[in-house]
Amino acid sequence: MVRVLVAIWAAKLARVALRLVRRNGTQVPGVIAAKLCPAILRRIAKPATIVAVTGTNGKTTVANLVTDALRRDGRRVLNNSYGSNTIDGVVACLIEGVTPGGKSRFDIAVLEVDERSSRLVYPDLTPDLLIITNLFRDSITRNAHPHYIADILTAAIPVSTRLVLNADDLISGRVAPGNPRVYFGIAPMGSDVIDCVNRIDDQPICPVCAADLVYDYRRYHHIGHAHCPVCHFASPTADFQGIVTPGAETVDVVERDGTGTYHLASDAIFNIYNTVGVVALLRTLGLGRTRIAALLSGGQITASRYNASQAGGVKVIMQMTKDLNALACSRGFDYIRGLPGEKEVILMANCVEDARTWSENTSWLYDADFEFLIQAGVTRYVTTGARRRDFTLRLVYAGADPSAIVECEREADAPRYHQPKPGRDVYILYGTEVLPQAFATRDAILAQAAKR
Ligand SMILES: [Zn+2]
Repeated sequence: MVRVLVAIWAAKLARVALRLVRRNGTQVPGVIAAKLCPAILRRIAKPATIVAVTGTNGKTTVANLVTDALRRDGRRVLNNSYGSNTIDGVVACLIEGVTPGGKSRFDIAVLEVDERSSRLVYPDLTPDLLIITNLFRDSITRNAHPHYIADILTAAIPVSTRLVLNADDLISGRVAPGNPRVYFGIAPMGSDVIDCVNRIDDQPICPVCAADLVYDYRRYHHIGHAHCPVCHFASPTADFQGIVTPGAETVDVVERDGTGTYHLASDAIFNIYNTVGVVALLRTLGLGRTRIAALLSGGQITASRYNASQAGGVKVIMQMTKDLNALACSRGFDYIRGLPGEKEVILMANCVEDARTWSENTSWLYDADFEFLIQAGVTRYVTTGARRRDFTLRLVYAGADPSAIVECEREADAPRYHQPKPGRDVYILYGTEVLPQAFATRDAILAQAAKR
């Protein structure tokens, strides 16, 4: 016990020291604690209930929605959304959640856990509930492919953990088949397709017999409902089925014994999945439909993921399109495609760290649906960073007019490459490594516009 306490105190001191020197190293206290007490994750006091959130896309949004809802419900919620989601980040978060005497200060933990960290985290921390948002092809150098990640999860998830799974995702939906589970999904929508219109389709064949799957409907990529014509395998039935009315700000979620209506923070399909998943999770935690509807009514999408601001007649829209993650880019491009008007796009989905330390793999550019940008009414492209020419090549390959593309070497110089035009909105598409440059670009463009 002394060893655990020493580790906790050292980590807490490190955290204070980091704050004093204004350094942002959210996982550092976890690293220190694990050095002093290798069994810290197993031995530290934890909240009575643990909810884990994992999946390729939507982890932070889902964790934030759940955390906000539970806090409004009056519970003391510990959460790592603003920190790291690796094992060190999880340990650092749990340390923040205990008193100097080692007692837990919270009722419930909502922990975002990186898929690949699962095999390190779950042996020493058993979630009561685990939601997997989806599994897609992610950064190829880090994640290989989604079935490989699904196998990691299946091997790592404790047998008693209850799962909240996406019925419309045949990859994450089939994880840990022996575990208790509920499924969420979205009923057929007017915008559904049958054949895949994306460059990536990670589940074209039956996972049981390898025959070609028949998709009854498909939302994007492999997300939808499919069946096998040979062995009669089929997508699972959702226990929580979202029904979306176009233009509505709410989603109906149908359960066997009733229906609830819940506020949507965004009408983008991937965010509707996030909301329906959150409803399924909160219902599984035992909350009533009316209560959940009230708790979600004020929820908002994290500001760092999407927002629009305006000055001097210029509208600048920030859209996160995670670098190395073709799916996140395609979702962002698809969303933009659905918005009206003429557009200038400043592409900042850049891997700044990779440019400095190692040779980035650019294959993901050819997995991302840049073709959607061509269909989105974009009349000017600014490509930025060390890989600006790779972005230009990809855009031309997708069908962009080369004369509509300008290249900007340093992200920080991007505002100078913006060309104001009345009625043309500016879209800044940014990855997680260029947040300061992306927001500085927005502010500079708005400041220029305000002066004109
Ligand atoms: Zn089959």
